[in-house]
Amino acid sequence: MPIFKRLLRVSNRSFLAFIFFFSLSTSCLYFIYAAPGIANTYLFMMQAQGIMLRDNVRTIGHMIRFYTIKNNTINGTDYPDGNNSSELIAQPTTYLPENFTYSVNLPCPEKLPSMKGLIDVNMTEITLEEIYRNLSKNMHINPAGHWKPDDCQPRWKVAILIPFRNRHEHLPILFRHLIPMLQKQRLQFAFYVIEQAGTQPFNRAMLFNVGFKEAMKDLDWDCLVFHDVDHIPENDRNYYGCGQMPRHFAAKLDKYMYILPYNEFFGGVSGLTVNQFLKINGFPNAFWGWGGEDDDLWNRVKFAGFNVTRPDGDLGKYKSIPHHHRGEVQFLGRYKLLRYSKERQHLDGLNNLNYIPEIRIHSLYKNITVNLTPELAPIADY
Ligand code: UDP
Ligand code: MN
Repeated sequence: MPIFKRLLRVSNRSFLAFIFFFSLSTSCLYFIYAAPGIANTYLFMMQAQGIMLRDNVRTIGHMIRFYTIKNNTINGTDYPDGNNSSELIAQPTTYLPENFTYSVNLPCPEKLPSMKGLIDVNMTEITLEEIYRNLSKNMHINPAGHWKPDDCQPRWKVAILIPFRNRHEHLPILFRHLIPMLQKQRLQFAFYVIEQAGTQPFNRAMLFNVGFKEAMKDLDWDCLVFHDVDHIPENDRNYYGCGQMPRHFAAKLDKYMYILPYNEFFGGVSGLTVNQFLKINGFPNAFWGWGGEDDDLWNRVKFAGFNVTRPDGDLGKYKSIPHHHRGEVQFLGRYKLLRYSKERQHLDGLNNLNYIPEIRIHSLYKNITVNLTPELAPIADY
């Protein structure tokens, strides 16, 4: 050390100051570049705690007003202003009775007796082979994870697309919950795991575009579900069919304390019909690294004149499999791109996408491996 200091000819104090600022700035840089999820989740947690605190204070206020007003009204049934009493009422149970009989020629209903509600979430690690063996004991699953009900006509043919790189332990955990849920919902489905090869930052959105194009070669799917590998649904009444409007399934995440982080949040798990997806020109291809692509999809949906629907109440709850962010980078250019969502919508997406897929069929999914680079989605200046 003394040699260092003598060489630099600095005093003890400035040497210490240098060390202090150096470590401060490297840890800042670490959080910005190398651990994007951690920094964003932490910022959100702080916000959420504020929101919850405010909510609690408001609820206590309502309760006090409710009881004081109640004592003063004549019939005692008035609700205080602004208290959304519907939130306090339990979900209506319009689900069909157990003895409901299916008809092979009729569409499967949406609110089936097999959809019981809460799912028992089990995060313990397991191999794909074990999962396949366990699941195919009860119901036969065709190669690449194709399945459809045999006692009614599935209402939707759903392709589940999963963007993937280096999260091998997550896949079987996801299948463990998703396959029984989709079978209970009597949907036709198959899984597409779109895996990014190469050294470029992860591009979740471009992988979805590739998955869409490949899936459509297999079957005339009518509904697409874009599914993060680490999102486990907590309720089997969260119906994975599509609708008149694009749908955001993952409305309440445990990692965000089951609060929607912001109204335009469209991440985690979302679903669009094939026609809706074609109309918005798919996902953008220009988002390399963590963040922003889901917000751009929201913008695209809005510019195409759609609204977004979400599951009622607690149906949209998800647990996230805890994970590291090693080797992943945050996409700092996202804010600039998001300012030009509208201009880019018809220049960048399904219509400028090129790729060379490598395809492997597994028992539970089709693996589509692609090496992505920016040159594969050329975009003219705007
Ligand atoms: N993903 C992946 N490997 C990566 C980064 C992302 O497989 O290195 C996929 C995975 O499906 C994951 C999704 O992209 O669930 C979203 O990324 P991430 O989980 O890192 O986002 P966060 O949960 O931090 O928002
Ligand atoms: Mn995640």
